[in-house]
Amino acid sequence: MDLPVAEWKSYLLQKWSLLPKSIQVTVSTAETLSDVFLHSSSLLQPEDEIFLKRLSQGYSVGKDSGAPLFYREEGNKTFQEKDYTVAAVLYSKGVSHSRPNTEDMSLCYANRSAALFHLGQYEMCLKDIIRAQTHGYPERLQPKIMLRKAECLMALGRLQEARQTISDLERNFTASPTLADFPSQSVQRNLHLLKMKAQDKENLTETFPVALAKTLEGVDLREENKQLSNASSSVGLCMDPLKGRYLVATREILPGEPLVKEDAFVSVLNPGELPPLHHSLESKWDTRVTNGDLYCHRCLKHTLATVPCDGCSYAKYCSQECLQQAWKLYHRIECPLGGLLLTLGVFCHIALRLTLLVGFQDVSKIRKLCDEFSNKDIPESSNWVKTLNSGLGEIEKNGKIVETPIPGCDVNGKYESNYQAVFNLLPHTENHSPEHKFLCALCVNALCRQLEAASFQPVTTGASSSQLKAAVAPELCPDMTVWGVVMLRHMLQLQCNAQAITTILHTGSKEGIVTGSRQVRLATGIFPVISLLNHSCSPNTSVSFVSTVATIRASQRIGKGQEILHCYGPHKSRIGVAERQQKLRSQYFFDCTCPACQTETRCMAARPRWEAFCCNSCRAPMQGDDVLSCGRRGCAESVRRDHLTSRLQDLRQQVGMAQKLLSDGKLEPAIQQLSWCQHDAGSFLSAEHAVLGEIEDGLAQACAALGDWQKSATHLQNSLRVVEARHGPSSVEMGHELFKLAQIFFNGFAVPEALSTIQKAEEVLSLHCGPWDDEIQELQKMKSCLLDLTPTPVGSSV
Ligand SMILES: [Zn+2]
Ligand SMILES: [Zn+2]
Ligand SMILES: [Zn+2]
Ligand SMILES: [Zn+2]
Repeated sequence: MDLPVAEWKSYLLQKWSLLPKSIQVTVSTAETLSDVFLHSSSLLQPEDEIFLKRLSQGYSVGKDSGAPLFYREEGNKTFQEKDYTVAAVLYSKGVSHSRPNTEDMSLCYANRSAALFHLGQYEMCLKDIIRAQTHGYPERLQPKIMLRKAECLMALGRLQEARQTISDLERNFTASPTLADFPSQSVQRNLHLLKMKAQDKENLTETFPVALAKTLEGVDLREENKQLSNASSSVGLCMDPLKGRYLVATREILPGEPLVKEDAFVSVLNPGELPPLHHSLESKWDTRVTNGDLYCHRCLKHTLATVPCDGCSYAKYCSQECLQQAWKLYHRIECPLGGLLLTLGVFCHIALRLTLLVGFQDVSKIRKLCDEFSNKDIPESSNWVKTLNSGLGEIEKNGKIVETPIPGCDVNGKYESNYQAVFNLLPHTENHSPEHKFLCALCVNALCRQLEAASFQPVTTGASSSQLKAAVAPELCPDMTVWGVVMLRHMLQLQCNAQAITTILHTGSKEGIVTGSRQVRLATGIFPVISLLNHSCSPNTSVSFVSTVATIRASQRIGKGQEILHCYGPHKSRIGVAERQQKLRSQYFFDCTCPACQTETRCMAARPRWEAFCCNSCRAPMQGDDVLSCGRRGCAESVRRDHLTSRLQDLRQQVGMAQKLLSDGKLEPAIQQLSWCQHDAGSFLSAEHAVLGEIEDGLAQACAALGDWQKSATHLQNSLRVVEARHGPSSVEMGHELFKLAQIFFNGFAVPEALSTIQKAEEVLSLHCGPWDDEIQELQKMKSCLLDLTPTPVGSSV
């Protein structure tokens, strides 16, 4: 999804392969990015644009007048099944397709308020009731939402307002004849119940504790760094001809210490799995729940109550504020291009958004510099960049050219999280394959032509188009080339500098007692300071996100002078050394020489335990390459590796089937299947093999769902051993697993075990995620709940 959709990608690659050799050579040997851009521009033909347009139109990003009713009905079905979360999302989809101030919109909001009410999200519910009313909720249905409003207010402890709503409702009822056709008996009865409830509540004088707000102030960098914005004073920026820029510890750093806290300079929500492209009219609307339905497209906050853009059905926000900010900063230009941006992929989208954020003035600054130097043939990799860089500095310093010691720093030598820093991230132009450069250049060219066309088009989407014209026309159209070259540079930079913004998604059985968790990618962003960190497959930091803000924490002690390292993705506990090396070379253009890679390359035989095979007869580890033999002296067992590999493949399939049974709530068959898998695994996999861990984890979930906490805890402790062997005792993975174990002990009322597990989980998680993490908050709630229980003297358990 970072790159263009498969159809457009293969179309372009085929186009490339059919180009005459001479043209391929011209593009491949172009010395500057602007040459690449211009050559490609001449190759983008009208038929290519028609093909791209057809692909883009396959995404439903506009408002579809039939959709609100369809989604409302789908939502109602799900609501009947009591799946309120999915119902809320379906109503949101209905809202996105509705025009403002229509019955469609008000009904979708009203229905969503009901789903939110059942989910206990009273504040959100109230907001939706107000939205339903402002968009013209029908008079005849008013009592329904008024009752809901009163109930919400009571649940929130706002009794005064609740009473007011109830008496308003009563007055309406007696006064308005239009309400006569409303099933008045049921309303009257509800009203009566509500009044009694309100009375009861008033007798309670207790005030409700205000939910602890998750604040970003929770993370403190102790002392602000004078040379490096967004970093703690224990971090220093260095430069080395071989390594480039890197960060070191300027004093001893303790585990868990926050080192960098940086808001993304730019970020774009990953659309999640895109619906298959459809070109036929009869195709159904998509009812799947994706990231795009659950997270604010600007700040990435999780919400079930999104507010849609007025112009499209695609962009959704957590609040009116985010909607307005996004519109002002970039969405007014992006709105009419939704389908195209989805087709061209997230990297191209980020490249556009970056230039929009910086604004037309700064990009035209770059244009001026480009004009100045366009006659000279300066290789992009060296002087062109330097010129632009010092040139930007030059403008700021009134004509004085100032040498900056480290690229990206300002004239005073300070590195800041700003556009200059972003611009200076390396595009690695010389390392990308010619096909890739061609692909990116054509995407950017196509985007530029659409921008140009949009700025001349008559109004098509209400206010947005005229504003687009006003915003783009004067600056952009005279010289689209500069704009394009800058976007191309950003698109190439992203391959090495994009940072995935992730979140932990809790997936539970329907019973919702024990949750599983997995990391999901929410968005792609650029963090200029974090980009300074070099890679290690066994890093000494970990990263966590709140909204679009990333925090880097030391995951272990880092001695003074030691380099601070971050993992770009291929971590030693997840991927074998050969695959890691291959990935780092092809994506990041370097050979990793981190200690983990060095050790593992030196002794290839020493495969990690979490993927090791063991002897069928004596359970000792098996050794060798194509033919494995038992490592224990005296045991003659030997077997071909491919035999074991195919056994493992079969086993994985069986485990997958068991997990499916589990998620369908078929607990007994799931346990049966998992026990069989466990038996099979034991005969050829090491006790710490990852698959064994998965099996134990599944058994733990099944037992928990059946209420057998003791068995569940035993299985989870086995799974915990595998996680520890693979990821280490203080890894974030270990933290998530300890969190699950704590939940199980908690639910089984095993108080001392629960308390000690909570403490361990807290220690590990706070190292990686800080005190405001959701899981830590949950652990603290569990702890205070356990401590409130009457203390039972040790040893007196029944
Ligand atoms: Zn937001
Ligand atoms: Zn829009
Ligand atoms: Zn490595
Ligand atoms: Zn053996």
